[in-house]
Amino acid sequence: MKSIHKPPEGRTTLSLKENLEKLSNACGVTGREEEVRNLMMKLMKPYVDEIVVDKLENVIAIKKGKKSSPKVMLAAHMDEVGLMVKTITKEGFLKFAKMGGIDDRILLAQKMTVHTSNGPLSGIIGSKPPHIQKEQERKKVVTYDQLFIDIGAENHKDANKKGVKVGDPVSFDVKYVKIGKDVVTGKAFDDRVGCAIMIEALKQLGSTDCTICAVGTVQEEVGLRGAATATFGVDPDVGIALDVTIAGDVPGVREFDTSAKMGKGPVLTVADSGLITHPKVLRLLLNAAKENKIDYQLETGLPGSTDAARMSLTRHGVPSGTVSVATRYIHSPVGMLSLKDAENSVKLTLAAIQKIQKHF
Ligand SMILES: [Zn+2]
Repeated sequence: MKSIHKPPEGRTTLSLKENLEKLSNACGVTGREEEVRNLMMKLMKPYVDEIVVDKLENVIAIKKGKKSSPKVMLAAHMDEVGLMVKTITKEGFLKFAKMGGIDDRILLAQKMTVHTSNGPLSGIIGSKPPHIQKEQERKKVVTYDQLFIDIGAENHKDANKKGVKVGDPVSFDVKYVKIGKDVVTGKAFDDRVGCAIMIEALKQLGSTDCTICAVGTVQEEVGLRGAATATFGVDPDVGIALDVTIAGDVPGVREFDTSAKMGKGPVLTVADSGLITHPKVLRLLLNAAKENKIDYQLETGLPGSTDAARMSLTRHGVPSGTVSVATRYIHSPVGMLSLKDAENSVKLTLAAIQKIQKHF
């Protein structure tokens, strides 16, 4: 009897939130983005003509358009803040360095995953117990150099036997959780939500004459490094970074310091410490939002920057801007965001792409 191949039941592609969950649970501490990159390649493949990985290991997915039309680079960074094994003590504890900006105060007692060549290991960040600290000591922040990762090893030799080596990346052990109708929490939303938005934009991209290069960049958290080589290689006419920004809608934050709010729409950067958004790009994004009735927020004057800063300064200069999702508790073990903001960021990105030819 001949076998009959039935088409797969249900959907064959994943939704934005399913992709965000997968991407957030994957690990890609700065400089070790392989797991995220492999996932990105798999998720972008159905929607593009070609995928290349450059020498710094940025992934570039290309949807070809007309040569006479603008080339648009979308960029979302694949790396996440984390730790790196620095030394192994003779008792088998792991001292560590920080990869990217992490506040020492959030490290104590965190569950971590040490990524060794033998596979992942669970560990806990420990310190001298508070019970035996002097009163003066208890008032002070325990800085990261006083902390260690405890993997339950008997000694240095045992840690080696488990596969731990100096330089191994260490990520937060936190899983994606849906906690409200549209609200989710998880690890590495900075910038896996940008990655998920980029994939969804490729999926929903209708016909366009523009060439779209969707780039998953590496090493953003240590100085926007991957975006430098990727942008040089792509040589785009317009650059849009898809990233997160600090949501300031929590107690103790002044609106002056950060005005973005979770659930109130994509955030358009006017200027940050590395970028003054090109006026043509800002106009493009604002018009796209207004014409499509997409709620948006404007922000300016924040410290820090995104891949757009690096894109804008590559070659002869690339008009660039940023579309961000206001995310609470970034650069900590767990972030929180509204899926509505992510969905609206997709809409805004697509609307901008449709209008690019009029603006450039
Ligand atoms: Zn980021």
